[in-house]
Amino acid sequence: MDFFTGFRPLLFSYVLINGILITLQTKEEVLLDMKATGGELGWLTWPLEQGDKPGWEVTQRTLNGSQFYTYSVCNVGEREQDNWLRTTFIQRHQSASRVFVELQFIVRDCNSFGGSSLTCKETFNLFTSESDADVGTTFRKGQFKKVATIAPDEITGKNELRINTETRVVENLSRKGFYLAFQDIGACVALLSTRVYYKTCPATVKSLVLFPETVAGGENQGLREVSGACVDNAVSEESPRIYCTVDGDWAVMVGQCQCKPGYEEVKEACQECRPGFFKAAASGDKCEPCPANSEQLDSGALVCPCTDGFYRAPTDPPTGPCSGLPSAPRDLVATTVQLSTGKLLLSWSPPEDTAGRTDVTYSVECQRCEDSVCQLCGEKIRFEPAGTGLTDTKVSVSSLDAHLNYTFTVKAHSGVSMFEAEPRSSRPPSSISLTVSLRYTDPPRITTLRMVERTSASLSLSWDVFPRPRSQSQPIQYKLTYRKKDDNLVATTIIVRILEKNFVHVVDLTPCTAYMCKVQPSAAMAAPEAPKGLSLMSVFLPIPGPLTQNNTAVIFAAAIGGAAMLFIVILVLFLRRRSVKAPLLLSTSLRPVNQSSFTEQLKPLKTYVDPHTYEDPNVAVLKFATEIHPSHITKQKVIGAGEFGEVYRGNLKMPGRKEVAVAIKTLKPGYTEKQRQDFLSEASIMGQFSHQNIIRLEGVVTKFKHAMIVTEYMENGALDRYLKDHDGEFPSFQLVGMMYGIAAGMKYLSDMSYVHRDLAARNILVNNNLECKVSDFGLSRVLEDDPEGTYTTSGGKIPIRWTAPEAIAYRKFTSASDVWSFGIVMWEVMAFGERPYWDMSNHEVMKAINEAFRLPAPMDCPSAVYQLMLQCWLQDRSKRPRFGDIVNLLDKLLRSPDSLKTIADFDPRVSIRLPSTSGSDGSPFRSVSEWLESIKMSQYSENFTCAGVVTMDHVLQMKNEDIKNIGVRLPGHLKRIAYSILGLKDQTSTLSVFAV
Ligand code: AMP
Repeated sequence: MDFFTGFRPLLFSYVLINGILITLQTKEEVLLDMKATGGELGWLTWPLEQGDKPGWEVTQRTLNGSQFYTYSVCNVGEREQDNWLRTTFIQRHQSASRVFVELQFIVRDCNSFGGSSLTCKETFNLFTSESDADVGTTFRKGQFKKVATIAPDEITGKNELRINTETRVVENLSRKGFYLAFQDIGACVALLSTRVYYKTCPATVKSLVLFPETVAGGENQGLREVSGACVDNAVSEESPRIYCTVDGDWAVMVGQCQCKPGYEEVKEACQECRPGFFKAAASGDKCEPCPANSEQLDSGALVCPCTDGFYRAPTDPPTGPCSGLPSAPRDLVATTVQLSTGKLLLSWSPPEDTAGRTDVTYSVECQRCEDSVCQLCGEKIRFEPAGTGLTDTKVSVSSLDAHLNYTFTVKAHSGVSMFEAEPRSSRPPSSISLTVSLRYTDPPRITTLRMVERTSASLSLSWDVFPRPRSQSQPIQYKLTYRKKDDNLVATTIIVRILEKNFVHVVDLTPCTAYMCKVQPSAAMAAPEAPKGLSLMSVFLPIPGPLTQNNTAVIFAAAIGGAAMLFIVILVLFLRRRSVKAPLLLSTSLRPVNQSSFTEQLKPLKTYVDPHTYEDPNVAVLKFATEIHPSHITKQKVIGAGEFGEVYRGNLKMPGRKEVAVAIKTLKPGYTEKQRQDFLSEASIMGQFSHQNIIRLEGVVTKFKHAMIVTEYMENGALDRYLKDHDGEFPSFQLVGMMYGIAAGMKYLSDMSYVHRDLAARNILVNNNLECKVSDFGLSRVLEDDPEGTYTTSGGKIPIRWTAPEAIAYRKFTSASDVWSFGIVMWEVMAFGERPYWDMSNHEVMKAINEAFRLPAPMDCPSAVYQLMLQCWLQDRSKRPRFGDIVNLLDKLLRSPDSLKTIADFDPRVSIRLPSTSGSDGSPFRSVSEWLESIKMSQYSENFTCAGVVTMDHVLQMKNEDIKNIGVRLPGHLKRIAYSILGLKDQTSTLSVFAV
């Protein structure tokens, strides 16, 4: 029976179309394709002949001009069918151990054959046999292994052909080739197509890795690992791998390749960067355009080098933009210039062009210039926080010399500044300079005019000038003008001399005559606004004869007084200028310090420790005082007598330090141990203090026989004495300045909880700068040392006139009782060292105080100052101001000198004693000189004599103008004499105390 009888041949086109759809991702390598053979297949059938029933038969069909062969068998009516159809030898690909066998076939339904269906089958078998060589027509069934029984999914009935496609896998092939065989055991089958193929993973490029075509399925039918290679111009760190699955798919790639520098990936290949682009490293990145200020090279650039004048800092990435040097900082200014401390603050604005950099820093260079010669300042100059690497736009400069010009150059740096050395003329400068003159630039002015010597017909004057001439090449010329002090100016000859030195000796003067002398820097140099009075002096020339020499000293003293006065006036003027000028160094006693710095200065670090709390007082001394070796001390002259021994002036020269003048307190021989400890206790106390207005302890000698206390030397000695000696010579402003210093020292002590108990002008010391410092800290001083100390009923010795009532009454010594004493010191100061309550007895003083009487205002005392005194003397101690309040108030008064102009009421009968025409014994003054002596104005005796005022009657007729005309110029002295004359006229000598 022919298998195809009655069917149309249309099915082949379907098969063909189906055959094209075989590969998608996977590639199939065909080893055998029955249809593609297009001619006789040459397959072997077995048995060759089976009687009249043949086995597998080949049938040829033509479609679209092409020949197709099919094999079929259909011996369904026969028993024991065993028909074999064997393919030709199929060469195996070396690595293809697994092949696919795809069959297209038709199986006819056994039912369609009626009675013969009993032996009819509907399946056939697939066999295979491996061989290393083509065995030709030799066929042995026994050599074949069964692969599968092939059964149709759809069976073909009577009318319609149903084609089945089945694929079977033949595995573990290892020999050179193999045969397939189809065994029919009684079915009606047509084998339309047999296709044998194996699968491969196709050659591919993934992530720039090239993987070769690979046969799918390894020995164990698992994944096959395949190593890849980078495409051209790509690199990889580790060799990339991938797996080819049994189905011919690539899977699980490990590693990758990246385009090398100068190349970027384009469609799975590496292409050179385009011109103007660069790529610095092997990466998956694209080439980037060349950054700012860099050169655009040809294709394949690894980096873009900086264009001329632009740089990359070593820390900049080579791929970053290039930058130029920053331009110069701007607006360089020097502020808060302090001549006194040689300090200034430089500040500036950042450069206009930072060349896009954020790492701009600044350095400051200092050059010192003198007479147009400049040199680097060196290490002496200090920059705070530093002179280089500044990120802030300011720096403080200190330790500058106040007589030099400095040029500061501030330079901007950035990370690329190191390339600056490269010559490039067009580059803008990166620094800015400023020249600061620390010199005192005002024209010179006379600060002190003194009379050095005088005879009846000659006069020697010398003077100081500020600022002093800097070099010999620039001398100052002075103009000396002098004339007789005569009201008749028209008739007076005025003599003018130009001098090159600050000294002159004038001769041929008229004896017994007052002269007015004036010295000024010559017109070209003088300050136009220089106050005229500063360099003016009135000198009275004595009568010729033996008196002259003696009087020289007196007049010299007066001249010194005048010079001191001038000095004060100059200081006051400087103070006034302070608000517009750079601050100058002034003594603390005069300096109105601003509140914040003031508080800072006075804030004590600790609380005072009573040396008595130490079991061994010697330990306390060593804790608070420095031990000095006696060989470092030189005693020069006795200057006073302390309770325990002499006080010397001397020098202290400590190793490695400058020699300084000191006061040396000694302990007289024969002392007891108790006395020695009491003596040294003052050092234990003083050594705990450190303040401008507290006497400074230099150290002690305790380890040698002669114990000593060494303190700073105060040239002008005790304040009460000093003021008495300079009675009327200081203006209120100066006196208030002194009080301010004392108050500042007392505030410091009270802040340290130290109660002084013996605050009085005699215990204040004055130095050359007229700074006042609190002294006298001995533990037993109130008891023993102070001659003012008086025994009270409450026990102990108390300086009654200086002591607050509660301290007298029940020894309640507090800072508030120190404030009372300070009020008395204020009074002493304003009264130029007058004894408080004059010659009233201590008993009278206590009585008056208890009856609410208080000291009256001293002559010329500013009202505000007297009001403060009265506040200090309030009975209720809690209502008295504290030292902090006092300091603040005095500071305010000093800041506005006008506040001192209002003068408190003054009664000459109270303040000037001896105002009667009689001497202290009640008899009338016998002479003008006796009277002058009684009011401590003897220095004017000659003036009175020369003016012809030789009797007390003449004196009583004098008017204020007359006093002035005879040469009394100091306002204080003028007033004293005038008030005394007033008192003499009044004939009253009541001593009363003002009630408050
Ligand atoms: P005192 O024992 O502290 O009262 O000193 C006695 C006298 O010696 C004082 O009245 C001063 O005249 C003088 N004196 C004490 N200390 C100093 C000093 N540091 N500088 C100058 N003179 C002093």
